[in-house]
Amino acid sequence: MRIERTKAGLREVLTEARREGRTIGLVPTMGYLHEGHLSLIRAAAEDCDLVVVSLFVNPAQFGPGEDFERYPRDEARDAELAEQAGAGLIYAPDVAEVYPQGFATSVAVAGLSEVLCGDPARRGPEHFSGVATVVAKLLNTVGPDVAYFGQKDAQQAAVIRRMVADLDFQVRIEIKETIREPDGLAMSSRNAYLGEADRSAAPAINRALRAAEAAAAAGGRTETALAAARSVLVEAGIEPEYLEARDAADLTEIETFNGRPVLLAVAARVGRARLIDNLVVIPPQSE
Ligand code: AMP
Repeated sequence: MRIERTKAGLREVLTEARREGRTIGLVPTMGYLHEGHLSLIRAAAEDCDLVVVSLFVNPAQFGPGEDFERYPRDEARDAELAEQAGAGLIYAPDVAEVYPQGFATSVAVAGLSEVLCGDPARRGPEHFSGVATVVAKLLNTVGPDVAYFGQKDAQQAAVIRRMVADLDFQVRIEIKETIREPDGLAMSSRNAYLGEADRSAAPAINRALRAAEAAAAAGGRTETALAAARSVLVEAGIEPEYLEARDAADLTEIETFNGRPVLLAVAARVGRARLIDNLVVIPPQSE
């Protein structure tokens, strides 16, 4: 598997591919690939002639005291898995290649970046500014026809869609469904942090979302659905950092189901891992 570490090297390969009329798909990741990432690579390989997978643990999206240093990394394994899933090229720059001395620009997507995980008391809007900035750079470096992201990170997907629309990036954004373990736990590189007891508690996060979905089936107040989710979490000994119902498109708070898609979103610390998950539901509008 070809691994490029510089923008110049990457551009050379991609210029050649474009000259041959090949379409390019981009799957940005922080590596330590799992089935969630691989499903994106497979989708990209179906749509595009050449799939570029980026592996970059982006320091700009980690806050002080977060897990940047200990974030799991295994490039050799990632390269093998990406190739099997249909990737044609890996872009794995080091930090200095992405953020050279003097780097001073960032992209901030107002509003969407300030709620849920972006609440200043949580990861904060800087997290999403770190994400938006690195994705903007990757889109400019690769120049893909299509870029693929997971619904698992629903807020990140909303931020990227907004940025791409607002800054006129010439790329199609595809958001793909969350891939889960058989017991419902959303796949995540951070699941590697879970000890045995934490691993058996963690599926309660998805069970809680399912309970909320069931409670929401007839519409009504979102608080009723969230209460059903909260009691599943309490039973599993999980204290959510947040558990909220928001408009799936603009992330504004929703108090009563209104017939439009609603994002039920949760973040919770389970042992050493901070996990997030979400479900989009479309309960009927209440009378
Ligand atoms: P990450 O390496 O965690 O930054 O994730 C890279 C991409 O994979 C992002 O677009 C994520 O939303 C997506 N992703 C991560 N986990 C999953 C999952 N379980 N199912 C689908 N996509 C995922």
